[in-house]
Amino acid sequence: EGSADYRSRVEAADLPEKVREAALREVGKLERASDASPETSWIRTWLDTVLEMPWNVRTDDNTDLAAARAVLDADHAGLDDVKERILEYLAVRNRRAARNLEVVGGRGSGAVLALAGPPGVGKTSLGESVARALGRKFVRVSLGGVRDEAEIRGHRRTYVGALPGRLVRALREAGSMNPVVLLDEVDKISAGYAGDPAAALLEVLDPAQNHTFRDHYLEVDLDLSDVLFLATANVVETIPGPLLDRMELVTLDGYTEQEKVAIARDHLLPRQLDRAGLTADEVSISDGALGAIAAEHTREAGVRQLERALARILRKVAVKQAGDSAQVQVDNGNLKEFLGRPRFTPESAERTATPGVATGLAVTGAGGDVLFIEATSMDGEPGLTLTGQLGDVMKESAHIALSYLRSHGRKLGLDPNALAGRRIHLHVPAGAVPKDGPSAGITMVTALASLASGRPVRPEFGMTGEVTLNGRVLPIGGVKQKLLAAHRAGLTEVIIPARNEPDLDDVPADVREGLTIHVLSDVADVLALAL
Ligand code: ATP
Ligand code: MG
Repeated sequence: EGSADYRSRVEAADLPEKVREAALREVGKLERASDASPETSWIRTWLDTVLEMPWNVRTDDNTDLAAARAVLDADHAGLDDVKERILEYLAVRNRRAARNLEVVGGRGSGAVLALAGPPGVGKTSLGESVARALGRKFVRVSLGGVRDEAEIRGHRRTYVGALPGRLVRALREAGSMNPVVLLDEVDKISAGYAGDPAAALLEVLDPAQNHTFRDHYLEVDLDLSDVLFLATANVVETIPGPLLDRMELVTLDGYTEQEKVAIARDHLLPRQLDRAGLTADEVSISDGALGAIAAEHTREAGVRQLERALARILRKVAVKQAGDSAQVQVDNGNLKEFLGRPRFTPESAERTATPGVATGLAVTGAGGDVLFIEATSMDGEPGLTLTGQLGDVMKESAHIALSYLRSHGRKLGLDPNALAGRRIHLHVPAGAVPKDGPSAGITMVTALASLASGRPVRPEFGMTGEVTLNGRVLPIGGVKQKLLAAHRAGLTEVIIPARNEPDLDDVPADVREGLTIHVLSDVADVLALAL
């Protein structure tokens, strides 16, 4: 392509004045340079990038909230509170836009909406749905593993193989200046040797700065102020503090078995039928079978494994169906033919059969989970051995648990000499998974008390709570996720700290009904119940 072409293309393009000036300057350089000069190639690439940007393109928003709600409902089952939060957010944006106020965030006003929760609960797909609800273009910017500031802000042009940053590429891909940009997995960025991507992102999200965002490659101001940014994260703890500060968190904690059945029936199955080239006339899967898949063939907070299991069933059906035309009916009776034997069965009973093992409830990156805390004692140098990749806070909990039992054991009716002069070993499987936090405190006390008394812990119990040296039970986080996990694992009795009682409002009714929930403030009561 000759430099004359570039001149006419730049002149014909709809560019902001400053951008046109910069582009014409580069065209001038191109015209003066000899064709053999290596510079010409990167000037051309730069001009191509500038000409591909949707400088003055903006799509019209759908401002009808009822229509937006209808789109959100069509895409996702349940999630009422999340949808409501999204609608409130859109309503406020609409009003601010109508009054010409700054709309993306703005100090003290609604910040960037961040969807936080375990894998497969629909965070990314909700982002897409918000774009559909608004009638905007959608682009996903995956931040998982980004360590280099240049990923966000681009490389200087003089750098070999220079590329614009993710935001420039996102707008180019969207083809409009006001898309929904989903900053996916903001909890997985980290500062590397090449600058801090979080700092660059902060500038992107700051309404005071983002109308003149400078990408190192593009070198002209880019107006990001019309972009609707959303973010997703699995864990809130690893989102860099200043970024978290700019975000308004909406948490998705996972689904109950009933909710999963509804999602599978109304959303996942129709989509997988489509993918397998099958229709509902050719195959049906009963609700009972869907429930069994959720409960016995998968163990997750979200629905990703569930969707995969449906895909597997339908592949088998596609083979079966090849010959005749009778509808294949999958139900509880024949599910095994399609998925094999159940992979998950309640294991609490066998695990806690020996004294010294107690069932705890925890929150991991994958959502709520049950974990078994094992204690044993042996001859040897008196003291405490801890294994299972425990973090510092969790190690302290173990020492507190032991000290509490040593000092209060007699009052609790435990033989004060049972653990005296022995080496005690406390292990939290799975050994390779790092764990931390104080919320296993009461479970550790229970495991040790069970060891000291020789009485096994009642298998139907799961528990969570921090413990103090005096045996107070202090509140913890993640109650909803933990109770969902307890329910999933087939536990029927759970113990939570008294001060967490208000959190029970967030727990779905069918889970609350399936569990007897004890709210306690003294660990002596925990032992009285569970041992
Ligand atoms: P990750 O943290 O692993 O990225 P995610 O929360 O982003 O997970 P998605 O990819 O959005 O998960 O969701 C997984 C799948 O489950 C998608 O196909 C999504 O449409 C579907 N899904 C999740 N929740 C619902 C729901 N409430 N209704 C309908 N479909 C759902
Ligand atoms: Mg996702």
